[in-house]
Amino acid sequence: MAIDKLNINRASLNAMSLTHDSPLNIEQIERNFREIAPPLSKAEAILESNRCVYCYDAPCTRACPTHIDVPAFIKKIASENLTGSARVIFDANPIGATCARVCPVDVLCEGACVEKTLMAKPIEIGRLQRYATDYVMREKRDIFTAGQSNGKSVAVIGSGPAGLSCATYLARLGYAVTIYDKKTFAGGLDTYGMAEYKMTQRVSIDEAARVERLGVKFIMNTEIGLDVSFDDLEAAHDAIFLGAGLGATTRLNIPGEKLTGVYDALDFIERIKTRDWAGVPIARTVAVIGAGNTAFDAVTQAKRLGAERVLLIYRRTSREMPAYEYEYELAKKDAVEFWWQTAPVEILADEKGSHVAALRCVRMELGEPDASGRRVASIAPGSEFNIPVEMIIKALGQQKMRPLLETIPDVKSDEAGRVIVNKATMQTNNPKYFAGGDCVNGGREAVDAAQMGKLAAQGIHKFVTGEDVEFAGARLPFIEKIYGEMEAAIPVASNNPAASAESLGVKSYGNSSS
Ligand SMILES: Cc1cc2nc3c(=O)[nH]c(=O)nc-3n(C[C@H](O)[C@H](O)[C@H](O)COP(=O)(O)OP(=O)(O)OC[C@H]3O[C@@H](n4cnc5c(N)ncnc54)[C@H](O)[C@@H]3O)c2cc1C
Ligand code: SF4
Repeated sequence: MAIDKLNINRASLNAMSLTHDSPLNIEQIERNFREIAPPLSKAEAILESNRCVYCYDAPCTRACPTHIDVPAFIKKIASENLTGSARVIFDANPIGATCARVCPVDVLCEGACVEKTLMAKPIEIGRLQRYATDYVMREKRDIFTAGQSNGKSVAVIGSGPAGLSCATYLARLGYAVTIYDKKTFAGGLDTYGMAEYKMTQRVSIDEAARVERLGVKFIMNTEIGLDVSFDDLEAAHDAIFLGAGLGATTRLNIPGEKLTGVYDALDFIERIKTRDWAGVPIARTVAVIGAGNTAFDAVTQAKRLGAERVLLIYRRTSREMPAYEYEYELAKKDAVEFWWQTAPVEILADEKGSHVAALRCVRMELGEPDASGRRVASIAPGSEFNIPVEMIIKALGQQKMRPLLETIPDVKSDEAGRVIVNKATMQTNNPKYFAGGDCVNGGREAVDAAQMGKLAAQGIHKFVTGEDVEFAGARLPFIEKIYGEMEAAIPVASNNPAASAESLGVKSYGNSSS
């Protein structure tokens, strides 16, 4: 089991200059990667929690995809009951410490806060959530315990937010849960993908360790479909949850893509996550292709590593880009250059023919909106030009998991490669398989994946035992569109124990009492 071992060699972090092309020394880089939202002090947390007006039917709770009872956890901070506060949070969201740092709160809970309208400053819900969850994480205080064994077992493919959430709720119900993951450390993209100035790996790995302490077994470095077959998995478990996320970064499909100096954004960010700065590639001029949140994470981190010029290349304008406004503002502060209406057509090599020397681009013209509402982009004739660059980061989004999904009988996906599920139970066309997270919604936020893991745990329990169970935050409507959703009835399992959910060890289905 590898989740509690972090391979960070702090001894190697010294003040010497880097071996690669950054003018910064390691200390300066460490400073640049400090958290942008530092923890609140006790006085700040009490003050902030007392600003909350504790709305009835609170809009923040509705806006949170896991529907955490926000006023309840904030009230407990005000009365200095931090364990009780963390209980409310973790009851609805098993990765509440991660979400406190990485959720795009401006468009979720804080975006809905009434104080935003009244006082122009919403309550700092994310940072308060961090204050409460940090307390129990620091104290290593486990809030929930495993339910009494019900003799059933579930395999979870993927230890990302969807898998960890599903596993937590199932363990609380008394299932024997095994998580399989092809990576070394648990946490999925929470561990390998989050911008380092938002969250270090330590948080998500600690959160996975809490799941392990609930009795969930982690089998890492094991790829399902390669090291373990689906047949073997089906034979060993009563149900299977698919939380495999998405695949590799989409290719540019232009000449020169294989030259040295061209990187995949996910690989680049994964290298940063090790904090082994000397091993992270960087150059004086870096071009990042794409304008989603991953592209913005790549530009800001390239700047913080010491690149002198960082260019973001996008075929449309800032109005059409998929990234959040908050990420854009951060990149502007980091002096990133934006090349709107620009598309790459070729990567040019240096005189040796091996390393990137320039990016050949064309200007794009935007026409009328198409059926999807996006303006059609076309190449401006004769507009080719070269931008000298030494490094290129591809950030065009992740491919879907089609090859994996095609090997599972009857697990169907839509034309865009997203797994089709029943939106209430997350059950797929193959009744033994449930799915959630990025592989279902095509790639959104960690908190959405956590909610799907919760709904899937309820669906699995209904399938295996025939009983209904409802966890905190599961009743409010799911705020996200699930593509290609099916309204199939839930097949009732043949084995249907009469035991009530409470007798199976479930401690809480709704509001917390602490
Ligand atoms: C660069 C980047 C930055 C992001 N930043 C943010 C952010 O700031 N805030 C936010 O809320 N969200 C962010 N997201 C989105 C968020 O990370 C995802 O929505 C979330 O991680 C999805 O969770 P998941 O459990 O579905 O998948 P993942 O987190 O991708 O986990 C899937 C897991 O399944 C494993 N796996 C896959 N196939 C197999 C197999 N065959 N066998 C065994 N294991 C397998 C993988 O190794 C992985 O660990 C970001 C995403 C990216 C790419
Ligand atoms: S989980 Fe995220 S969206 Fe929900 S209340 Fe916490 S910070 Fe806000």
